Amino acid sequence: MASELKIEPIPAFDDNYIWLLSRNGSDACAVVDPGDDEPVREVLTKRGLKLKTILITHKHGDHVGGVAALKADWPKATVYGPAREPIPTLERRLGAGDVVELDELELSLDVLDVPGHTEGHIAYYAHGVLFCGDTLFACGCGRVFSGTFEQLSDSLRSLAELPTDTRVYCAHEYTMANIGFAKWVEPDNPDLAVREERVRDLREAGEPSVPSSLAEELLTNPFMRTDQPEVIAAAERWAGRELSSPAEVFTALRSWKDKDYD
Ligand SMILES: [Zn+2]
Repeated sequence: MASELKIEPIPAFDDNYIWLLSRNGSDACAVVDPGDDEPVREVLTKRGLKLKTILITHKHGDHVGGVAALKADWPKATVYGPAREPIPTLERRLGAGDVVELDELELSLDVLDVPGHTEGHIAYYAHGVLFCGDTLFACGCGRVFSGTFEQLSDSLRSLAELPTDTRVYCAHEYTMANIGFAKWVEPDNPDLAVREERVRDLREAGEPSVPSSLAEELLTNPFMRTDQPEVIAAAERWAGRELSSPAEVFTALRSWKDKDYD
């Protein structure tokens, strides 16, 4: 009988989370987006874990910077990542429809294309668990770097179709700041007020605010609520014109946050 999959954050840099996947009774593990090798090595060494798999969501240095050094220490580890991004350390190149079978962890992950933050960003999904890198954040979303606003809008809309009990493992602890902007957009959203209080308590206790649930994102994350009248009205007020599609509302919200908030 399989033990439960354990998913734990390894904090890195100022606000990154490298996700560690393991199971009790096995020394095999996987990590998602190891931007730094040192904190990963420290945890794996202390726990006697062997790195079998490295999963990459996109090309940015704070997600891939530790791959080469980890691979040197655990040469049998396999490095998976997005086919459409230039990442020299990749061994298996993935896109939508691919499935990653991690036999040691008894885990099968579906690959989703979620471009926008970068041009080839992918996410990994299995059994109500989503590793979405810098696409969807708790109460926010990634900036548009080498993708387009339309792509990121579409990607978030596709993630919104996943089961609402999906747990969202994003790659940064940005939640408190994101809630601040969400309150600009929807100052009267009661679910947002509840979330703010809960996240503040967690952060004051030194706990991560992630994973969140997709249900929670649909209730409080303005970037997942571009079809809601209050969100549309706020985006139109900022843009100073009528916005006729969710992608236009999304683009106004993302630009508003980029220019005026952070
Ligand atoms: Zn990034």
